[in-house]
Amino acid sequence: MPAGAQNSLSTSQTAPVRYIVSLANRLEHLVRVRILLGPGPSQRDVQLPVWNALYQVRDFSQYVNWVRAKSTTGQPIAVQEIDKTTWHLTGIAPGAEIEYEIFADQSGPFGAQLNPQHAFFNLAEILMYPVDGRNSLAEIWFTDLPAGWRIATALPSLGEGFSAPDYDRLADSPVEIGAFQESDFDQGSAHYRVVVDADPADYDMQKMVPMLRSLVSAATAWMDDQPFQTYMFLYHFPRGPAGGGMEHADSTAIDISASRLAESPQSLGDLTAHEFFHLWNVKRIRPQSLEPIDYTKENYTPALWFSEGATSTAGNIIRLRAGLLDDARYLKGVADEIGELERRPAHLTQSSEESSLDAWLEKYDYYRLPKRSISYYNKGSLLGVLLDLQIREATHGSASIRDVFQWMNEHYARKGPFFPDSEGVRRAAEAVSHSDLGGFFRKYVAGTDEIPWDDFFRTVGLHLVRRVVSIADLGFVATQNFDAAPVVSAILARSAAENGGLSVGDAILEINGHSVNDGYAQHLAALRPGETLRLRVRNSAGERELRWTLGTRQEIELQLTDLDKVTPEQKASRAAWLRGEAQTVGETRP
Ligand SMILES: [Zn+2]
Repeated sequence: MPAGAQNSLSTSQTAPVRYIVSLANRLEHLVRVRILLGPGPSQRDVQLPVWNALYQVRDFSQYVNWVRAKSTTGQPIAVQEIDKTTWHLTGIAPGAEIEYEIFADQSGPFGAQLNPQHAFFNLAEILMYPVDGRNSLAEIWFTDLPAGWRIATALPSLGEGFSAPDYDRLADSPVEIGAFQESDFDQGSAHYRVVVDADPADYDMQKMVPMLRSLVSAATAWMDDQPFQTYMFLYHFPRGPAGGGMEHADSTAIDISASRLAESPQSLGDLTAHEFFHLWNVKRIRPQSLEPIDYTKENYTPALWFSEGATSTAGNIIRLRAGLLDDARYLKGVADEIGELERRPAHLTQSSEESSLDAWLEKYDYYRLPKRSISYYNKGSLLGVLLDLQIREATHGSASIRDVFQWMNEHYARKGPFFPDSEGVRRAAEAVSHSDLGGFFRKYVAGTDEIPWDDFFRTVGLHLVRRVVSIADLGFVATQNFDAAPVVSAILARSAAENGGLSVGDAILEINGHSVNDGYAQHLAALRPGETLRLRVRNSAGERELRWTLGTRQEIELQLTDLDKVTPEQKASRAAWLRGEAQTVGETRP
């Protein structure tokens, strides 16, 4: 119980909202929350968000076992549910205490979990807010911690508890509670904390810290900005299903399975660069359509192609600059992304803006089929690359996408306004390039025109080479929703997969004995024609093992390679492009 939590309430309507969160029932994953409301209106509503962390309605109120309330003198107050996620209280002018129990056992950076090993909370998934008090100061205490557990969060400390200027900032600050390991370092004028909840055998803090230091150093130099004093990296490396990162204004939470981390150590820098860059792009350089946040229903935005996709573009540039990615691997990555886009027939029917709006459908398997949707991460990251090349061409190398981000940081993030979605990106790109980019945004951002890749890559002496390769014919399409098991969403008629007994709706657990947790896509890509495929799958009837021999099919493989003749100008442009900066005066051609 926090000292003084009940007797220092202000009498204004902006009285702080105080939360006391008990971690006593770890075995049953039950979190007990008390909300202390100060004096205010006599009738108030409290709500629990229906979505957070993912652009998916997940209805967190499904986990609320009960809600009750009492007056400041301890008398019971009636709590009336008025919709699935809103409760109404009357006669509470002097203040009230609301109490509820909520189940929390979803692991990962998009979840909330309490168990005997640790607690990790995206707070919007467990904390209700007074509808008229989202802007009030929020304070929070965690109680009933086992001996040895500590609390890590980017929230400012109140001694025992933590505070946030309002509910939105509280919800944007995940909390890890447990016996984690921690390291830290200073870079520039900021302090960085590195919190890891994992088996020490599965990672090496001595290697992680220098990697993170080079990454934040490259990113803050590239943006010429460090808009925080303290930033926290929070990692889990579980031995089980995991994958994903979640951005926050002053922290990030990242999960990578221990086996994936061992097989592909660069995945750590890859994911971290993306999430770290989000502290600018989406958290501070923020699309208007995401504000104010609507926690009660879908919060539609057409801007994720930029807020997510171009964040990947920037993350890759930062890794190049930090020496965590080499040019060849970067170019292969770009070519692979183009291949991924072109193999999805929906690239001719769904624009990057429509894909952003439809993010809320990603929880459905059918939606993720190649003929139904593209990914705003995928096309958006390519649009970032193309916009960079277009600006470089228009300015003879004197401006780049770096200037777009810096311009948006200056004109939107630092001055306060949110940017008007794609139109705001176009405004920034036109301001730094002094050129009309209407066609680019009409055709490739809002539209579904085929992208003339070679016209863009010619400026840096590259072109796409298409090669027909024979690959294993799987005979099915499976789609994966974040860290869930991939689910079979289509089976080709008369294929070996059909004959082998695979069904739409089967969840894939293992591929040739490898768990799908350690790189599902990589295991599929490694399969060769003529090989035997063994799948362990699960459906409502239980688990089963299937096997069949893989046939052959042709696929186009893309490579970005040198033009027959690369001019010195193209060479210089390419070097500057891969450094993520403008050409120096000597390099610049009129
Ligand atoms: Zn992201």
